Amino acid sequence: MDQVAEPELPDSRLTTSTLPQGIDSASPFDEMMSRFDVAAQRLGLDPGLYKVLREPVRETKVSIPIVMDDGHIEVFVGYRVLHNIARGPGKGGIRFDKNVTLDEVRALAAWMTWKCAVVNIPFGGAKGGVICDPASLSRGELERITRRYTAEIMDLIGPEKDVPAPDMGTNPQTMAWIMDTYSMHARHTVTSVVTGKPLTLGGSRGRIEATGRGLMLICREAAPVKGLTLAGSRIVVQGFGNVGSIAARMCHEAGAHVIAVSDINGGIFNSKGLDATALVAHYEKHRTFEGFQGVERVGNADLLELDCDILIPAANENQIRGRNAPNIKAKIIVEGANGPTTQRADEILNQKGVLVVPDILANAGGVTVSYFEWVQDRAGFFWREQEVNERLEDIMCQSFRDVSTMAEKYGVSHRIAAYMLGISRVAHDTMVRGLYA
Ligand code: NAD
Repeated sequence: MDQVAEPELPDSRLTTSTLPQGIDSASPFDEMMSRFDVAAQRLGLDPGLYKVLREPVRETKVSIPIVMDDGHIEVFVGYRVLHNIARGPGKGGIRFDKNVTLDEVRALAAWMTWKCAVVNIPFGGAKGGVICDPASLSRGELERITRRYTAEIMDLIGPEKDVPAPDMGTNPQTMAWIMDTYSMHARHTVTSVVTGKPLTLGGSRGRIEATGRGLMLICREAAPVKGLTLAGSRIVVQGFGNVGSIAARMCHEAGAHVIAVSDINGGIFNSKGLDATALVAHYEKHRTFEGFQGVERVGNADLLELDCDILIPAANENQIRGRNAPNIKAKIIVEGANGPTTQRADEILNQKGVLVVPDILANAGGVTVSYFEWVQDRAGFFWREQEVNERLEDIMCQSFRDVSTMAEKYGVSHRIAAYMLGISRVAHDTMVRGLYA
């Protein structure tokens, strides 16, 4: 691609220097765009391409009227944002959460574009969300919300168009309902319309563990950068859901000492290391850390500042901020959650020499195996788990090397390098396709 003048950036956007004092995070989309802008400038991205890549292709808001179990009618709001399709169909999860906003969904959709490009799989970026509190809804209410939401976005999704997956508050059962609703309208079974499905309905072996496994692989690849090995490293994990619990178990099984973990109610700590395999089994049974022997309690804020080698934030956004970043003692942060580190925190961590492996690389194991699931559904031929895991390992390790090479070449952080890699691939393919008019 031709190297041209720096793009003109809109000056109305908030940056850390223009934010009110004491506040270090802009909206999720602005947080994403602030990194995009830095990467675009370092790439010398064409100003026209800059405009193309920052705009979502389409944003859809739908109304979801439901008869609740007690007979009254409730109306929920849902979104689906398609950010970019230059490299293939949109790909991205559906989040059920009471705090979902269009701005957040838009940011998550753009992150998916860069993430898929960083790991070089043929998808664009998309994301969806429904404003609801899944914990307060019955199974029947959740099913009706899911089916009506699917019906409302039916024309927008499809194996060649936009392929949803689970995210916070949704799971393989939700994907089965989406697949069934779509298939009933298509009059035949279309398994490849969503990924993250149950294994018996076209799901992939290894999909549930994929994000956690990918994080463990990235910890293993990143450790030597700081003179460490994964085996023997002291690890702290924030969040004990699908991502955090599996990352903790896999790191433990690879010989690391998982010294602390947490969920929304707080954390537990043992300086010699927890038996994370036993802890996952305990947590699956009791849904709490209570009753697990040989540990001390630790608060969520203190957990992030514990003395450790590798910190894995795997809960939600904006956990590492300007106010706690100076106290972080980890040598490496491997981002399991999307957007756990604010831009202000990034600046502080970079100054401290902390290696931050960004979300769009570190947690890409999930979407990578989603890609494998889509391929298997379309081929109608399913792989052994070992095959899935080997291919995942190849992609995660190659992507870590690609981002590290970019970081060295341009003298930038791994976060900016990952954005540069993702943006340059999407920009290249957009240029080759040309603009339809
Ligand atoms: P989940 O709902 O299964 O688990 C979230 C966990 O975080 C729970 O244990 C919850 O108690 C805990 N938590 C919430 N707020 C917390 C807080 N303030 N402090 C400590 N713990 C807190 O969700 P998940 O699927 O594990 O996803 C976690 C993050 O990873 C999200 O940002 C998601 O977008 C991202 N992600 C998930 C996948 C995937 O495959 N599931 C893939 C890529 C990225």
